[in-house]
Amino acid sequence: MRATVMYGAGDVRIENVPDAIIEDTTDALVRVTQACICGSDLWPYKDLQPGEPARVMGHEAIGIVEAVGADVRTVKAGDLVVMPFAFSDGTCDYCQHGLQTACSHGGFFGNPEVPGAQAEAVRVPLADGTLYPLPVGVDDTLMPSLLTLSDVLGTGHHAAMTARVRPGTTVAVIGDGAVGLCGVIAAKRLRAEQIILLGRHHDRIALARDFGATDVVSERGDEAVERVKELSGGDGVHSVLECVGTEQSILTAVEIARPGAAIGRVGVPHYNAIPQAQPTFYKNLTVGGGPAPARAYLDELLPDILDGTIEPGRVFDRTVDLDGVPDGYRAMNDREAIKVLVKP
Ligand SMILES: [Zn+2]
Repeated sequence: MRATVMYGAGDVRIENVPDAIIEDTTDALVRVTQACICGSDLWPYKDLQPGEPARVMGHEAIGIVEAVGADVRTVKAGDLVVMPFAFSDGTCDYCQHGLQTACSHGGFFGNPEVPGAQAEAVRVPLADGTLYPLPVGVDDTLMPSLLTLSDVLGTGHHAAMTARVRPGTTVAVIGDGAVGLCGVIAAKRLRAEQIILLGRHHDRIALARDFGATDVVSERGDEAVERVKELSGGDGVHSVLECVGTEQSILTAVEIARPGAAIGRVGVPHYNAIPQAQPTFYKNLTVGGGPAPARAYLDELLPDILDGTIEPGRVFDRTVDLDGVPDGYRAMNDREAIKVLVKP
């Protein structure tokens, strides 16, 4: 089968790889109908070293189940399913508590051990706990929005949940990538009163305003902090959704948080320590977040997509086939595209 293989920074190729097959009795084999390129795929695209093992990329997908192992009970051949970016058994203590990304038997797609979904097909371990059947046809116009349930919508929602967004609160969203934009959707859904987006790209800002952002701050560093404080009444915001993962973004998050605020981190941290230990302490800040249990949020988020309340699929502004994937990486890395949808 054909798949997207990353060999090193900037080196993404479409190649023939061994067919995905059922290896364990709990596996499903899924033919991928929609996949996408994630902002987090851009980290290895920037810094994967040539000596590191190559990997079949992709951790977000919708597809049709082609076959299941002997022990799979909840999905069957022919089902249209969404695949969260982490696989999980659905039965361990963490899964039972809605933290499937900590599953005792789980893991993530798209690394040297578990091939990913930017491919014609993908092997899904622990299919019963992982896959979620969708109640629509394969050609449904909602497909781009449904695809965001794999990762970016669940991740934006996780940022909002861990930042404790409540009705009537003030929220800042750091980052105007697809996750930040979904963070705006999530904050609005949870009825925040003010949603300040920190971002700099005009197309993304326009979309954020459509999604519910009330204010936009395009300054950086100290100026951004001052501007957010001004906009939110002087002291900072109740909730910060940190959707970038750099040292600068976490520093800004800490500085724009008002006393008692919570920060939800969903940008994979590319820093070693949370800055400003003393201000964080004296402001009684809660710093939470981590890999989103996208699987846990499906029941809550799916109905809002089906009835049109939210349209997270608008984050996709380019569609490619497998041959177009390498240029899709380039386009997202160059900020030419917000998020690229892949139809293998
Ligand atoms: Zn589990």
